[in-house]
Amino acid sequence: MSQCQQRPPKSQLENRQAANRTTAVIVPALLIGIVGYATWIVVVLIGANYLIKHQSRNGAGIAVIVLYFIFLFPMAASYLRLLVTVPYPGYVEKGSPTAATPVKPPQETPPQHNVQASCTSTKVQDGTNQNNTKPRPAAPQEPPVTVLDTKAILSGELPPPPGTERFYSKEVFACDQNGLPIWCGTCNNWKPDRSHHGSDVGRCVLKMDHFCPWVGGVVGEQNFNFFIQFCSYAGVYALFVMIVMAVYISEARSRGNSLGGNWIAGITLGAVFTLFAGGMSLTSISLGLKNLTTIDNIGHQRRVMHIAVLIDPMQQRQPRPMSTDHVKHTHGSEESEDPWQGTITYPLNIMPDASSETTLPPRTSSASRTFAILRTHPGMNPWNLGAFRNFKSIMGDHWYDWFLPLRHSPCCNHDRGDSMYELGPDVERLKVDAGLSSSSKSRASSRRRHRKHRHHREDSEDMDIMGSTLANVNGVTGRERNSFESV
Ligand SMILES: [Zn+2]
Repeated sequence: MSQCQQRPPKSQLENRQAANRTTAVIVPALLIGIVGYATWIVVVLIGANYLIKHQSRNGAGIAVIVLYFIFLFPMAASYLRLLVTVPYPGYVEKGSPTAATPVKPPQETPPQHNVQASCTSTKVQDGTNQNNTKPRPAAPQEPPVTVLDTKAILSGELPPPPGTERFYSKEVFACDQNGLPIWCGTCNNWKPDRSHHGSDVGRCVLKMDHFCPWVGGVVGEQNFNFFIQFCSYAGVYALFVMIVMAVYISEARSRGNSLGGNWIAGITLGAVFTLFAGGMSLTSISLGLKNLTTIDNIGHQRRVMHIAVLIDPMQQRQPRPMSTDHVKHTHGSEESEDPWQGTITYPLNIMPDASSETTLPPRTSSASRTFAILRTHPGMNPWNLGAFRNFKSIMGDHWYDWFLPLRHSPCCNHDRGDSMYELGPDVERLKVDAGLSSSSKSRASSRRRHRKHRHHREDSEDMDIMGSTLANVNGVTGRERNSFESV
């Protein structure tokens, strides 16, 4: 959803990537060492030596040992599954710099303030207003980031880089304020919906969640379910270790036995990893229930994005009631900002027919597809299907998939015709708001949605991000809006 991200100078980036590579090797080895140490403490010191050998409590000793391995096994299995998928978290194919003719080559990268202007979505995503930031020292240290010559592409002077058909063959896709798919200037390719460029690995990753040193790589679409399983099993395993150690430390103290340092280390490790893994598990499940990634969640409540929605050529756009200002409506009314930002017709060398004042632009050829560019309301997640369906889209359709680290998430299947990911009801509501759908049910739910968004706006006074986005949008799409508004 972000067009590009603020990247540290190259040397700093390279240092970080090198540090990540080292961490990716050391930390998994360290984790395996810690588990080995915990196994020795619980199985040998507690189960075999203390309970069976010294106390002659064979039943308790065997129970502790057996239970330990019952808790260890699913954690180890999910961790191995995760390690196997880490090299393939859902990387997006890199484009060829030579194929991207309409991009400005790196040496023509505009001054820093222009680069920031092309990163509107990132500013929104990060929840920070970067207008006040000082321009960073430019060029020589920057990695080669290509910038699309959007103006030339939209005017038809230059063809777009290859690959736009993957987007406009769908009915809905995430786009920039011009209706173009979002460009990654580092990967030299269009970014599929919900992908994010990970500077740690220098690649765009589908539904990238985060770079995880514990697994030595990126957690993304292909392994987020395994990550949740691993964290959950690790949390339960660590809780078991902590409880076992607490019980027998307490017992040993009451009997006046001396405690070894290993016992204290065991309960400490159990407590630390219960909190850490349990916290990661609950956080990840909570995000999964909302169909958000960790990156999506940054500034989510205030983020706006743009989506291109295929227009039915036979459809009349419904006039918006009370619409006096097509960009921003009266604050305090039930109406929110008009999502309609204009239209764009693909393939890009075919311009929309702007002759009609009252109908939507007809298709100019049987192959062309005209999309409405809609801006989402702040905090809207187009892919929010509802908590349970969100959960199943990540963890699997069957209950056993939720526990077994075997199959990839259903959301990894991108064979859908309408969109790369299944769309939630908010998209239909947005279409109602834009006059593209007249469902009375959707209108009622849309009004409820407006009230919710209005209350949220009143709670949040920091609308600088919205303001900067509106400014960018106005400059680009005024022509299209004037041509197609029906009121
Ligand atoms: Zn990228």
